[in-house]
Amino acid sequence: MRSVADHLATVLDGIEPLEAVDVELLDAIGLTLASDVVAPWPLPAFDNSSMDGYAVHASDVAAASPDSPVVLPVLGDVAAGGTGRTAVAPGTALRIMTGAPMPDGADTVVPVERTDGGVERVSITAPVTPGAYIRRAGEDVAAGTVVQRAGDVVTERSVAVLASVGCAHVHVVRRPHVVVISTGDELVEVGHPLEHGQIVDSNGIMLVALARSAGASAWRTPHAHDVDDEFRAVLSAALREADVVVTSGGVSMGAYDTVKAVLSQSGEVDFVKVAQHPGMPQGAGRLGDRRVPIVTLPGNPVSSFVSFELYVRPLVRRLLGRRELSRPTEPATLLEPIDSPAGKQQYVRAVLEVGDDGVRRVRPVGGQGSHVVGGLAMADALVVLPPDVTRAHAGDVVDVLDLTRSPV
Ligand code: AMP
Ligand code: MG
Repeated sequence: MRSVADHLATVLDGIEPLEAVDVELLDAIGLTLASDVVAPWPLPAFDNSSMDGYAVHASDVAAASPDSPVVLPVLGDVAAGGTGRTAVAPGTALRIMTGAPMPDGADTVVPVERTDGGVERVSITAPVTPGAYIRRAGEDVAAGTVVQRAGDVVTERSVAVLASVGCAHVHVVRRPHVVVISTGDELVEVGHPLEHGQIVDSNGIMLVALARSAGASAWRTPHAHDVDDEFRAVLSAALREADVVVTSGGVSMGAYDTVKAVLSQSGEVDFVKVAQHPGMPQGAGRLGDRRVPIVTLPGNPVSSFVSFELYVRPLVRRLLGRRELSRPTEPATLLEPIDSPAGKQQYVRAVLEVGDDGVRRVRPVGGQGSHVVGGLAMADALVVLPPDVTRAHAGDVVDVLDLTRSPV
């Protein structure tokens, strides 16, 4: 049997980030920059006021106090967005708003709170340190600075600086398209009536949701029945547009395991047993002229889910040019014992709690059958028990894959 690590290495073998494209800034959230972004101008671009107040010469107001205010004539206003140049002569003031460019001559802003707010004349009741309340040009970012590097991900935290340095478009690694094909004669599209023996194609929905959560765009084909030609037709349509094909079902030892039957003939997909539970039957390969990666997942919903986390999320993230490929695994204290099959890496659905004491504790949840979608919904973590462990005890420190956290 192949180890989980070896199967992941097979899935990722030869996979490189997709080509770079220019996309509109907001469409680039979650995508990886393909080149450095340099600030062509400083941020701020000009000295400006950080307060609503009065632009003055600091020396004029050095002696101001509530008992003996300094009164200055106000010769006009400078609002944010004022593009003309203004100047303040000694012994005068301009009313200035937050973000407005500093007038020539003025070295300080007196916040309106230290004045009577006058429009024609202002009475200033406290001195201000020279240079106070001015945001200097370049104090945030100097012109020529690399504000984001190739390999950095565009996020809701970095779009502001990218926009501020003029990036209407950014050069990013293209978002991969994942096409999900569910297989099985028993499947019915959600929302349609079920006859005895039929089930909803929940994997198709789940795998699309997972692929999107990994950063891909994703959609489903109509599900394929367990008929070789039908699967072939659906697959060839999928291959026209997909950067990754993910199938569910039809890869084990049963009589109607169409995915395996069709794709093992081609020789391009390797069907193996992986030493994991759930999800032992796996397949991976590359198809067609474009060498599109395909990962064939087992049909049991929890097996499909776990296998997506183990193999497809890393694959999508490699195509996206991301550095971290898998969700983080961290230690936690186990609250209940777990039996684990010898020789298989087990993934146990669990709930992770972080106590007020900061200690991370984990409790198995929801029954561990590979078919339990209700139980899957209760879990927010997977306890990972290595192949050599056959029983983990309450109080043991175990590795836990946190399903609520994305890789960084
Ligand atoms: P298979 O891998 O095709 O042998 O399917 C294993 C189990 O998973 C069977 O109980 C199937 O009914 C179930 N299954 C297969 N495909 C899906 C699907 N798309 N959604 C939900 N359950 C499925
Ligand atoms: Mg099947």
